[in-house]
Amino acid sequence: MSRPIITRFAPSPTGLLHAGNYRTAVFAFLFAKHHGGKMVLRIEDTDKARSTKEFENNIIESLQWLGITHDEFYRQSDRASNHRAYIEKMIDRDFAYVSKEEPKKEGDRDSVIRFKNPNKKVKFEDIIRGTIEFDTTDLGDFVIAKSLDEPVFHLAVVADDFDMGITHVIRGEDHISNTPRQILIQEAIGAPTPLYAHLPLILSTDRTKLSKRKGAKALSEYRDKGYLKQAMLNYLAFLGWNPGDDKEILSETELINQFDLSRVQKSGAIFDEIKLLWINKEYLKRMPEEEWTAEILKRLPAEILENSAFEERKAKVLPLIFERISIFGEVDEMAQNGELDYFFTAPEIDIEKMLPPEKLRKGKEVSRESTALHLRHVSDLLEQIPDIHFTKEGIREAVFPYAEQEGRGIILWPMRYALSGRDKSPDPFELCEILGREESVRRLRVVERI
Ligand code: GLU
Repeated sequence: MSRPIITRFAPSPTGLLHAGNYRTAVFAFLFAKHHGGKMVLRIEDTDKARSTKEFENNIIESLQWLGITHDEFYRQSDRASNHRAYIEKMIDRDFAYVSKEEPKKEGDRDSVIRFKNPNKKVKFEDIIRGTIEFDTTDLGDFVIAKSLDEPVFHLAVVADDFDMGITHVIRGEDHISNTPRQILIQEAIGAPTPLYAHLPLILSTDRTKLSKRKGAKALSEYRDKGYLKQAMLNYLAFLGWNPGDDKEILSETELINQFDLSRVQKSGAIFDEIKLLWINKEYLKRMPEEEWTAEILKRLPAEILENSAFEERKAKVLPLIFERISIFGEVDEMAQNGELDYFFTAPEIDIEKMLPPEKLRKGKEVSRESTALHLRHVSDLLEQIPDIHFTKEGIREAVFPYAEQEGRGIILWPMRYALSGRDKSPDPFELCEILGREESVRRLRVVERI
């Protein structure tokens, strides 16, 4: 029987990881779960000056949110004595030596520990990229520690991967050039070389490397904006991988069942916000009504929830809000921008804005008086609709012929504006249905009162 698979995600808590960085964790997790193996989370905090607890917590919370669980957890700084033991052993066995240095700038050491490079060819099989060969001669006697207690990244990674029994190192392509040094260290300490899978770069839509500097957002920002974790997991799993058919919406279980490193592409994967929004919307569409209703209610401000018209209108307003969003955070935005107020409270009207804009007038003269007359007529039409027909279709049927006759923009623009007080809102027939006859008529007759 072959060894159980153990993968790891080894982030450095030296900054907020951007969402794309979690793709590595997603792949390592899916691969381990697919094979019934284990996943290790290792916080690589050996850079003491730049690592912070806050960044570490952000990583842990982000993984938890995505549902990426680990079977073992380590913090690299807790393993200093193990690293020291390996460095001492390497010096004892003549694989490394203390080298006197000429400090180049202030703060530089006058001695470091260097690896005695055998200057040879190192070859490894990358699961994604095939055979990779390097001549290590160019690397010289590279530094493995600044002192016995200060290993550099290469030594710590190799020692930890060995001690933790890591079988598969799944990480970004930017680590390919580190691999030959790490293999030399493995050979020196008697560690087996794990299998490597170097994942393609993540690019922004302009095809340059995605980075925080170029506006890449932290995963926690997406969480805070109300993206669904299943959608994010699904999206990240598709950054450089696909199941080989055209299915794009896969649950966590389906992802685990189908994930396969051999289907990971070599070329860069583009982080596309529009695609992410689309996937999120697909998940919304599949959500049970009670769940999305509860989520929208949670995000509505007290002024709306406590409005006397709320109970009566919510059954129509909530589905309308739901239809218009791709992420739940848009509900907060709509509420903050006052885009939901008119469902419950009659808007303040600016008569100038009620007159249809030039492009809708089609050369017709409009005045405050003619607009008031039109709205009066529309409100009379609404009064004549039988109760059972007071639906958006029924209202449309009653009002539309008049709009056709007078000019659509001339009638429908002021009608919608009188109902909502906004340049953009649902169509006036839908608004009338939601507001009910009495309130619609009251709003349409506002001009007469001004
Ligand atoms: N700590 C390294 C990083 O954050 C990853 C090391 C590795 O995966 O081997 O880039």
